[in-house]
Amino acid sequence: MYLFQQAASLSRTLRAARQNQLSIGFVPTMGALHEGHLDLIRQAKKQYDRVICSIFVNPAQFNDPADLAKYPRTLEKDLEALALTGADYVYFPEVSDVYPPNSQPEKYPFGALETVLEGAHRPGHFEGVGMVVARLLRITVPNGLLLGEKDYQQCMVLQSLLKQMQWEQKVALHICPTRRESNGLAMSSRNQRLTEAGKKQAALLYEIIKSCQERYLQFSPDQLSDWAIHSLEAQGNIRVEYFSFADAQHLQPVQHWNESPAVRVLAAVWVEDVRLIDNALLF
Ligand code: AMP
Repeated sequence: MYLFQQAASLSRTLRAARQNQLSIGFVPTMGALHEGHLDLIRQAKKQYDRVICSIFVNPAQFNDPADLAKYPRTLEKDLEALALTGADYVYFPEVSDVYPPNSQPEKYPFGALETVLEGAHRPGHFEGVGMVVARLLRITVPNGLLLGEKDYQQCMVLQSLLKQMQWEQKVALHICPTRRESNGLAMSSRNQRLTEAGKKQAALLYEIIKSCQERYLQFSPDQLSDWAIHSLEAQGNIRVEYFSFADAQHLQPVQHWNESPAVRVLAAVWVEDVRLIDNALLF
């Protein structure tokens, strides 16, 4: 496994691989890796000749400086896990390598996609995500980009980014299923900050999401989200930021189930001062 901290040398290495007809799968991460991240690496290995993983806690996508400061960083362990899983290249740059002091920030407008759900609660978040992933794509020029369904809105935003860059023919987008703990809790780097009791409480979120999948036909979207919020908050240790039903492509809220051929449930909650998100397809 080859380690890079400089974009210029990574680009040179990947260019040489491409010239040797080797295909490249790219997995962008913010580190503090868990099995969900490693699933993306495994999937990339199945489909591409070489796998590049980036580890970069991108300041531009954090609207809350305290959240950025608290974000877990476990580089040594991450590199060990990536080597064991079979990543070929790892890029873990300093901020100045990704954002050189005199570089112009590129902005990609995501329209209505970035003003709902995560975008509504984390202003500027997707602008920061778009900016960093555009830079990482230009550095790596991969054949495939592998993302987790866990961050479903991010997947839709990055699909739009590929279109705006006119790279959608050049880079295949793979959305990989959410890896969960045995109690259903979606794996997340932020789970490291939960106590054992908090992890148990947080598992209720997926329980409620599953109940929604089973019973949505008996209720309207508003009734069902009221029920879900009430059930989650009744427990006392969970605060719901949003619990919404939205059309699966544009993520606009639905008032009636027949408004869209595909609807997802998406939610953000707070447990022990940790913000967690999850989502699933309803139909
Ligand atoms: P992050 O390090 O949180 O930015 O995540 C890096 C990538 O891993 C993103 O594409 C995430 O959607 C994906 N990911 C995070 N958690 C999971 C999970 N539990 N299962 C599958 N993919 C995940």
